[in-house]
Amino acid sequence: ASADAASFIDLENQHAAHNYHPLPVVIASGEGAWLTAEDGRRYLDCLAAYSAVNFGHSNPVLLEAARAQLGRLTLTSRAFHNDQLGPFVTALAALCGKDMVLPMNTGAEAVESGIKVARAWGYRVKRVAAGEANIIVAAGNFHGRTTTIVSFSDDETAREDFGPFTPGFRSVPYGDAAALEEAIDENTVAVLLEPIQGEAGVVVPPEGYLPAVREITTRRNVLFIADEIQSGLGRVGATFACDLAGVVPDLYLLGKALGGGIVPVSAVVGNADVLGVLQPGQHGSTFGGNPLAAAVGHAVVEMLATGEYQERARVLGARLHESLRALIGQGVVSVRGAGLWAGIDIDPQLASGRQVCLALMERGVLAKDTHGSTIRLAPPLVISADDLDWAVEQLADVLREL
Ligand code: PLP
Repeated sequence: ASADAASFIDLENQHAAHNYHPLPVVIASGEGAWLTAEDGRRYLDCLAAYSAVNFGHSNPVLLEAARAQLGRLTLTSRAFHNDQLGPFVTALAALCGKDMVLPMNTGAEAVESGIKVARAWGYRVKRVAAGEANIIVAAGNFHGRTTTIVSFSDDETAREDFGPFTPGFRSVPYGDAAALEEAIDENTVAVLLEPIQGEAGVVVPPEGYLPAVREITTRRNVLFIADEIQSGLGRVGATFACDLAGVVPDLYLLGKALGGGIVPVSAVVGNADVLGVLQPGQHGSTFGGNPLAAAVGHAVVEMLATGEYQERARVLGARLHESLRALIGQGVVSVRGAGLWAGIDIDPQLASGRQVCLALMERGVLAKDTHGSTIRLAPPLVISADDLDWAVEQLADVLREL
């Protein structure tokens, strides 16, 4: 690293809270799937900001949407209407096949909002006894970092010293529909799941699991909330990971790529029989639905409406998974995922995920470990086939040199 890189890292170490452990690289600019460090060195981005940059860095269409709106109006709060929100929520609802959108900012806020909506629906529509609502979640989940959300995490690092925790959640093994049904009682208002668990290491549930969850929740009058914050919006080769299983949840939780990597934009999307439970004053956000976010989010939805990005992720994803599977037995223990999204378990005897990511960085590929010796690849969907092949070659070389 250059002297400048060291000094930028030093400033962060001194004055930014140490709640992350970044790779020692300082990025100054980006275009498409490529990032340029402050010393001019180029890196292929194989993380895409945890899938928030699905459409690539400096995407010209999204930048233009942002620039045009920046010069006109950026924030009104929801105290007034603005001329961007209506068109955005109309387009997003149509993309989801639903009729209503609750606009928020970050992923965790969408999850919190989904929980509030489910509880209010439970009391007001399902008629659950006051204060008794419960929500079923899955072991290994990652839904964000707020106190309520870490209340139902089973990652001790995410919870330690952050209690007391919010009650009202029941965790069942991921992928086990029978266990899920067993946990449902008359006070259950929702099942909250990632259709593919991202932070857990891109864990794809057994075939038939999501359809079974849909069938059970419908039969037991329980909402099915799909957290598609990381899996949704093109990443898996379809608009939603739920699409791959042929299921439609009651509520979609969206975030990350919805803001095009430019602004934080998240949303809860559902039908009016559920989202319609919210009345004025019962929920809100100063920035949620702001005109800049709505303009960028609308441009994102228009890009997805053509199906072009989903198709790209599907085709390139098949290529990625085929080449990664060829590395099994050569330092790779297993590979999971869908579309341009892969969790790769490295033989823990050979190296930790972080060691592999540091070695990849030296070769110009940026990726991030999740747990232990698992690394995740999630490049921007605009990556070229050649660049994708090159990234896998770098991984193969790194493994060969271990
Ligand atoms: N839900 C899922 C599935 C996620 O992967 C994430 C972030 O990684 C979140 C929620 C939280 O999103 P945010 O970091 O924007 O709060």
